[in-house]
Amino acid sequence: MTHHQVLIVGGGTAGITVAAQLRRKNRKLDVAIIEPSEVHYYQPAWTLVGAGTFDQQATKKRTADYIPSGVAWIKDRVATISGADAKITLESGGEVTYDYLIVAPGIQIDWHKVKGLPEALGKGGVCSNYLYDQAPYTWEVLKSLKEGDKAFFTQPNTPIKCGGAPQKIMWLTADYLRRHGLQGKVDVEMMSPGTMLFGVEVFRNALHKVQERYGSKWSHYTNLVEIRGEKNEAIFDLIDKETGEVTGQRVETYNMIHVVPPQSAPDFIKESDVSNADGWVEVDHNTLQHTRFPNVFALGDVAGTPNAKTGAAVRKQAPVMVANMLRVMKENEVTADKRYYGYTSCPLTTGYGEMLLAEFNYQNEPDPSLPIDTTKPRRSMWILKKYVLPHLYWKGMLRGRA
Ligand SMILES: Cc1cc2nc3c(=O)[nH]c(=O)nc-3n(C[C@H](O)[C@H](O)[C@H](O)COP(=O)(O)OP(=O)(O)OC[C@H]3O[C@@H](n4cnc5c(N)ncnc54)[C@H](O)[C@@H]3O)c2cc1C
Repeated sequence: MTHHQVLIVGGGTAGITVAAQLRRKNRKLDVAIIEPSEVHYYQPAWTLVGAGTFDQQATKKRTADYIPSGVAWIKDRVATISGADAKITLESGGEVTYDYLIVAPGIQIDWHKVKGLPEALGKGGVCSNYLYDQAPYTWEVLKSLKEGDKAFFTQPNTPIKCGGAPQKIMWLTADYLRRHGLQGKVDVEMMSPGTMLFGVEVFRNALHKVQERYGSKWSHYTNLVEIRGEKNEAIFDLIDKETGEVTGQRVETYNMIHVVPPQSAPDFIKESDVSNADGWVEVDHNTLQHTRFPNVFALGDVAGTPNAKTGAAVRKQAPVMVANMLRVMKENEVTADKRYYGYTSCPLTTGYGEMLLAEFNYQNEPDPSLPIDTTKPRRSMWILKKYVLPHLYWKGMLRGRA
């Protein structure tokens, strides 16, 4: 049994960022991160890897190089959390107790929830940018499309990380086809259980124009449930608009199908006493403090906050969470002025060399942070995504500076 003053579960975007910020604020803090992975990924660039315009290798670095100095790294996986006992157990069998806990193990990808998907993935045109190893295969499939082919893009009926990712790769594919004289000759279609292209009106309007430009299709109320890899067939449930009931099925033969799989809170969080009814960590939406265990905080994809789950959201959550936790340590209450209002941003790559930056908050209101109009696709935003943000991530955010 070991004990740490501050214990962080997960050393991904959120875990490393808050560890770095905590150490910058107070070097005397005893902080430990539990993270099983030897490598740290910059996931936002996987869309660009899938579109053949970013080096896959550059999206991963050694975790060891990003654990802030003075922070202990417990290279293990958390098996259970007990908020009531202020204790976690490790998969290797050990136990760690804490004074303060930060829960940041991200989101779980439930590949198995689409029948046949685990077996079919990575061959026969079934691809996904949601795994480091798989993103290059998206590019292989994309560039092999030819006249008469059908390319489908799916979105699940669960919360996901980066809500824009399903359509980003669709626009890039459509642009690739346009540039290669294949626009209108390859069917490009989004299969989404949702009701609209995007939740925020101003961006939705801009995306409708993008859709018109490419002539791609968008099916709503359509949910991928099965892939029959050996036949290149995908099965979709058709959902009734009013009742949400499944009314029938659509079977499609694909040459390419980019799958964004169902996602949920990690099982060990769902099974713990820190989760809410939907499995996410039950925190106050503005302070990120647990609603029942005042010494527990959460941020990132696992947090039970109704924002779109992105690394950009983590960048805004981290200083709020850190300030509130430090105040609780000192005065037993959160700060009066550090609040998170749901900011998130979704860099929507609408073509090679152009991007629209959708920034919005809990109310789905635009929440711009830049002095230019980002509601239109712009070249400057593409440069931001491809060149500036990765640099800011590795050098700024993970070092507790941005
Ligand atoms: C294809 C794709 C495109 C994206 N595009 C964008 C984008 O353009 N912009 C943007 O802002 N965001 C984007 N994102 C989302 C962004 O990467 C995530 O929202 C962000 O990484 C969330 O941070 P996190 O720390 O909560 O989770 P992660 O960064 O995923 O980290 C979770 C960590 O917890 C660890 N962990 C898991 N289980 C355990 C356990 N049991 N015990 C201990 N540790 C554990 C994992 O190993 C991992 O290191 C994208 C994601 C994908 C997949």
